[in-house]
Amino acid sequence: MKLLKAGSAAAVIAALALTATACGGGEDEKSSGGSSGGSSGGGKKITIGIKFDQPGLALKKPDGTFAGFDVDVARYVARELGYQPDQIEFKKAPSAQREQLIKNGDVDFIVASYSINDKRKKEVDFAGPYFLAHQDLLVRADDDSITKAEDLNDKKLCSVTGSTSAQNVKEKLAPKADLQEFSSYSECLTGLENKTVDAITTDDSILAGYAAQPGQQGKFRLAGLSLSDEYYGIGLKKGDGRLRADVNAALKKLVQDGSWKKAVEANFGPAHYKNAPAPQVTEGS
Ligand code: GLU
Repeated sequence: MKLLKAGSAAAVIAALALTATACGGGEDEKSSGGSSGGSSGGGKKITIGIKFDQPGLALKKPDGTFAGFDVDVARYVARELGYQPDQIEFKKAPSAQREQLIKNGDVDFIVASYSINDKRKKEVDFAGPYFLAHQDLLVRADDDSITKAEDLNDKKLCSVTGSTSAQNVKEKLAPKADLQEFSSYSECLTGLENKTVDAITTDDSILAGYAAQPGQQGKFRLAGLSLSDEYYGIGLKKGDGRLRADVNAALKKLVQDGSWKKAVEANFGPAHYKNAPAPQVTEGS
């Protein structure tokens, strides 16, 4: 197999994201709503919302399979609820659509670098948290003009609509930055590479995955700023207390039996991402 030429990885990621968008229901195998019958166990199929373009967290590979930490967490939780891998339908859950997908019943739950916050809790419930990330910046490796959040104020900054990262920039981190909101971080990465934007902001867990892509090493640099605490939760329909309790039990077991550590090492190890320890499950208790 030929190695990817330097520079082509971003294009591959962007193409994957575009294909996923263009294909509509195609990438989701079958288009259907949440299907577990409302709560855990025994249903024929479970529909789980994930990202499709975040290497290390959740990536749809060219052969149609999925890999990443969120994918491993989703599969583990599904198994604890009584679903085998072939009973899982992964549905694309872009940042801005997550609450709506849950409220519409298009998914049973969402495992998609989904930060728990009060605004979202008005619309959906969360189980977890199961991971702690921090907002950071990704810049071109040869650009030393951005070392802190305030340096963004006269720069073109890319983030994603509906993300906490974009909201934090607008509200507190760099209100004067020229913020461009795209629908996915892989589109931001293409912009950073093409110099149409100067920096990307989102969780360090996501940015580390992009920086470590084959063909990308050495091109980008994480600022290492830890601009916020992002506690990832599993998003669920409001009021389904039984499902939340079952998912919380699965997340506790994930950590206790060593699967959390294994998944972290397997998925974030290649990017040399220094993760925080597993957080305590606190939602719903
Ligand atoms: N964790 C942040 C959020 O939930 C940023 C990553 C994302 O957009 O998925 O908004």
